[in-house]
Amino acid sequence: MSNTLTKEKIDWSNLGFGYIKTDYRYISNYKDGKWDEGTLSTDSNIVLNESAGVLQYAQTCFEGLKAYRTVDNHVVCFRPDLNAARLKSSCERLEMPVFPEDRFVEAVKAVVAKDIDYVPPYGSGATLYIRPYMFGTNPVMGVKPADEYQFRIFTSPVGPYFKGGAKPITLRISDFDRAAPRGTGHVKAGLNYAMSLHAIVDAHKQGFNENMYLDPATRTKVEETGGANIIFITKDNKVITPKSNSILPSITRRSLLYVAQHYLGLGTEEREIRLDEIKDFKECALCGTAAVLSPVGKVVDHGKEILFPSGMEHIGEISKKLYDTLLGIQMGRIEAPEGWIVKIA
Ligand SMILES: *Cc1c(COP(=O)(O)O)cnc(C)c1O
Repeated sequence: MSNTLTKEKIDWSNLGFGYIKTDYRYISNYKDGKWDEGTLSTDSNIVLNESAGVLQYAQTCFEGLKAYRTVDNHVVCFRPDLNAARLKSSCERLEMPVFPEDRFVEAVKAVVAKDIDYVPPYGSGATLYIRPYMFGTNPVMGVKPADEYQFRIFTSPVGPYFKGGAKPITLRISDFDRAAPRGTGHVKAGLNYAMSLHAIVDAHKQGFNENMYLDPATRTKVEETGGANIIFITKDNKVITPKSNSILPSITRRSLLYVAQHYLGLGTEEREIRLDEIKDFKECALCGTAAVLSPVGKVVDHGKEILFPSGMEHIGEISKKLYDTLLGIQMGRIEAPEGWIVKIA
């Protein structure tokens, strides 16, 4: 796939979820105990020493959020302050310097403003994905944190994450674990993804869309997938989501629970969810920035199929309400809670 499309040539309605180079990226360097003032650059390449901390010991973490055009043609992004806070907690866990949260939000706005022609039109279904990330840059040999870091933000226009829209997907119960108890499952570290790659390639080979990971200590409770949190709808229309300290705290999931409570009047609960009780639930969905919400029709546990009553043809009724409401808030069709929508242009 080409990654050198110019903005004039992009066919917004047929974009996939892949990297497309845009004009500007934000860069700030950390050296001698402080961050420099930061800059916007047209250079998409990074030159690193061969022994850079990120290359040897995977000292890197990232974030993901989106900018999009609203119904009244503003360019906005969604709750970037929560991405700033989550990057802070990732950095603290990985012994990396924190990039100040207010500067994070300002940098997101600055880079999107520069790449504004790459923000897809309202109604196209496409968005501008924003990828902030940080990594150790100076040479390290012994196992220790780097002393110098780079924080960058690039953007890339993307289509819907799951091709084919809101068609229900199939998960399999994974025999691999994604995170150790008391490990790094709760922070957005690249290393969590490196160890999930074999499991996802294998799942695809076997004909499944995603892996459902269980709690690594007892393997009896549901955690999440490789890159999205999970919600279930009970038969009495309560929205429930697994509670565990090795799940990545999804901003989409937290927003959906708020929407369930305050916009749809539904009960919500964050609690441990046993694998053996999911057969009693009415609906299941994945949630994350990339897909917003993606219905799950079926979970396969070593040949045993758990088919949710919402089935494999359509998104469930409550999932659809949650999806429509959150998307409506993001697109400016429904009034947002205070502070959720940050206007860039
Ligand atoms: C990023 C991520 C999510 C989704 O989080 P959002 O803030 O909603 O985008 C869920 N699970 C994992 C493992 C992730 O890395």
